[in-house]
Amino acid sequence: MSQDQDSFLYALSSNNAWAGYKAHQNPNFFSKLASGQTPQILWLGCSDSRCPETTILGLQPGDVFVHRNIANIISPTDINTSAVIEYAVVHLKVKHVVLCGHSACGGAAAALGDTRVGGVLDTWLTPLKALRHAHAEELDAIKDNGVRAVKIAELNVEAGVKVLMANYSIQDAIEERGLEVHGCLFDIASGRIKDLGFGTKGGRGIGANGAGENVVKGKHAQLVFRGGNASMTVR
Ligand SMILES: [Zn+2]
Repeated sequence: MSQDQDSFLYALSSNNAWAGYKAHQNPNFFSKLASGQTPQILWLGCSDSRCPETTILGLQPGDVFVHRNIANIISPTDINTSAVIEYAVVHLKVKHVVLCGHSACGGAAAALGDTRVGGVLDTWLTPLKALRHAHAEELDAIKDNGVRAVKIAELNVEAGVKVLMANYSIQDAIEERGLEVHGCLFDIASGRIKDLGFGTKGGRGIGANGAGENVVKGKHAQLVFRGGNASMTVR
């Protein structure tokens, strides 16, 4: 996209080209999509423009049910997050709930700084700031800003997974049909998603350290998580 081009008009023309390409590639693609959704993954991630879940997973429309907010904060009293979780887990019956933080998160950086962002943002980031204070010694010992931001992002995912594991809809689904909960981190600089080992399988699931593999099947492609890395095969 050139700088003098209107970004919205460019996006619309890009959409037009994409829709044409997809329909050419698979004439049934959109009619199949329009008939309903059966996603296997609920993705809870950050709103950051560099973390578009379906794209970075190498999946397709229809594969991932999504809730994203600033700094992927999971609060039990947030009715927005809770409604998305309930719909995905109870009604769509997804097989995986993936909470994914990321490197270079602006929310993490804001929580690490002592300055106020202003407006409603400071309120939203309060849980992250509380984590920052609770782990001050550990975080302050890390001299590199980027590494420190990754650390608080990991602590945030750990805290979020605990909230997810305390959610009754999720607890019932784990018990009744083996729902899996994963806590992950997306490294923007490499494009790789790493399993942090929190959640139902303690790291033996998505991207675990060589302990087997985990296959997530989308409609048009499948992701194989093996040895800390994910690879995609198109079916
Ligand atoms: Zn972020």
